[in-house]
Amino acid sequence: MEIESMVANSALIKAREGGGSKGRSYKWKEMLRFAHVSQCVDHGMNLERHYHSLCVKQPVGKKLFQLFCRSRSDLQNYISLQDALDMFETRSDEERRDFGISIIQRFLRSQSIQSVSIALKHEQSCVQSLELDPCGDVFQACREDLHTYLCGEPFIQYQQSMFFDRFLQWKVLERQPITKQTFRQYRLLGKGGFGEVWACQVRATGMMYACKKLEKTHVKKRRGEAMALNEKEILEGLDSRFVVNLAYAYETKHALCMVLTMMSGGDLRFHIHNIGVPGLDRDRVRFYAAEVCCGLIHLHQKSILYRDMKPENILLDDNGHIRISDLGLAVRLSEGTLVRGMVGTLGYMAPEVIGHKHYGMSVDWWGLGCLIYEMTAGQPPLRARGEHPKTSEMERRIQTEQLEYSDNFSKAAKDLCSSLLIKDPKQRLGCGTQVQSHPFFKKINFRMLEAGLVEPPFKPDPRLVYCSDVQDIDEFSTVKGVTLDRTDCDFYCKFNTGSVPITWQNEIIETGCFRELNLFGPEGSRSTDLDW
Ligand code: ADP
Ligand code: MG
Ligand code: MG
Repeated sequence: MEIESMVANSALIKAREGGGSKGRSYKWKEMLRFAHVSQCVDHGMNLERHYHSLCVKQPVGKKLFQLFCRSRSDLQNYISLQDALDMFETRSDEERRDFGISIIQRFLRSQSIQSVSIALKHEQSCVQSLELDPCGDVFQACREDLHTYLCGEPFIQYQQSMFFDRFLQWKVLERQPITKQTFRQYRLLGKGGFGEVWACQVRATGMMYACKKLEKTHVKKRRGEAMALNEKEILEGLDSRFVVNLAYAYETKHALCMVLTMMSGGDLRFHIHNIGVPGLDRDRVRFYAAEVCCGLIHLHQKSILYRDMKPENILLDDNGHIRISDLGLAVRLSEGTLVRGMVGTLGYMAPEVIGHKHYGMSVDWWGLGCLIYEMTAGQPPLRARGEHPKTSEMERRIQTEQLEYSDNFSKAAKDLCSSLLIKDPKQRLGCGTQVQSHPFFKKINFRMLEAGLVEPPFKPDPRLVYCSDVQDIDEFSTVKGVTLDRTDCDFYCKFNTGSVPITWQNEIIETGCFRELNLFGPEGSRSTDLDW
């Protein structure tokens, strides 16, 4: 490895280790200084006052609403019940029954000192459903009633409290303009179609991200405006632990930038082909397949068709969980409609895509089949390692040829792949049938997996950088003869929307900035009666 690469890598590794408070600029408190309440009034006027968005979805909003409720003796038990219900979701299957019973005894019985009046009527039905299936959504009706109560009078009073003023102060910080100066830049991570992807760190908080740059001249020359905007708009509407999150979208003089969840563990192509014997062991294949499956279900529930499933686009984080990335080809389908268009990567395209038919979510399940096949076999379906058949030949194989399965495939793995790789989309697994119920996933607890509570079978080494050496990533060529003018600005403005609220608020909480800065009281002292 060349010295340049080693220097770039060790700078990145050091930044990653320090991630969080150590990575903050010494001026971080100045950068995150609250505006005076009177300067936040405008923001408050323009804010849509929806309880669900302000007090449930937005993480900082939720915290401040909880602090408000804790400061009010008549609401304390409501919020303790909400905490207990959140915690219930993080318990293992074995713990759920006992934990559920303790919730019922504490909050749902009138003789308990912590009883919550609006929840009492659920006691019997909760006891029953807990008996029947502790892993079901035992407290659903109870949770709904809790929110119905909180979104009434308590929500109105919250908006007149200092806690809501503080929320507005955070919102004003969230809306600060984002520029190149917001970040420190580390090494180059990879190259995409319109530009490079760099590791970066937010100066104010120390949070690490990956910045995907789209060169303005490249985008213009190849008419990629709609595609860039599409990727950005789809990403900002998503919130799943199995899809990369968008944290910021901003522009510089030469580039449009999407700041994404940092995935330090490399992509699955690298893990399948560049480490030891090609392919992955069974536990890893099952785990990654299950997480990808959850990601796809999340996208499909939001009517988003992904269309670019392949090992390169599935990335690992530092704990070994995966996320789906690169949503440039994704499309939102309006209810019940299909699309057409030969997009994707040839080797992973479904027969109905190649056949110029109208298609829907079926193509992603085909893609999952290809992914599981490649992870298991160590080579992509219908193609030998390193073989690059002509387009017409590859199309013929996808449409007519049957797959072969080596000894690497267990009976369940073979059955799963052949069900996902059925040429007729109507017969394919996933299209009207549940992929998660396949025997291949018998050992996977999807409830725990969805909650992020399953330990990954492989943890990337924090001392390694799982991507090509800096000098082996081709330099991004510059385009000549393209001039940017006023007509482009309209598109840049639509792109340049700054922080994405939920991701930004999570960053503030995860890096400890919220805890350190959210002080109340005359000298900023934290009131002792607030329970943290
Ligand atoms: P394109 O749409 O142009 O293919 P990608 O989104 O696939 O661009 O990004 C190009 C490369 O950059 C990826 O193959 C990967 O190596 C790297 N990369 C992209 N996103 C991330 C991320 N969130 N974390 C780490 N590396 C990333
Ligand atoms: Mg890509
Ligand atoms: Mg792309």
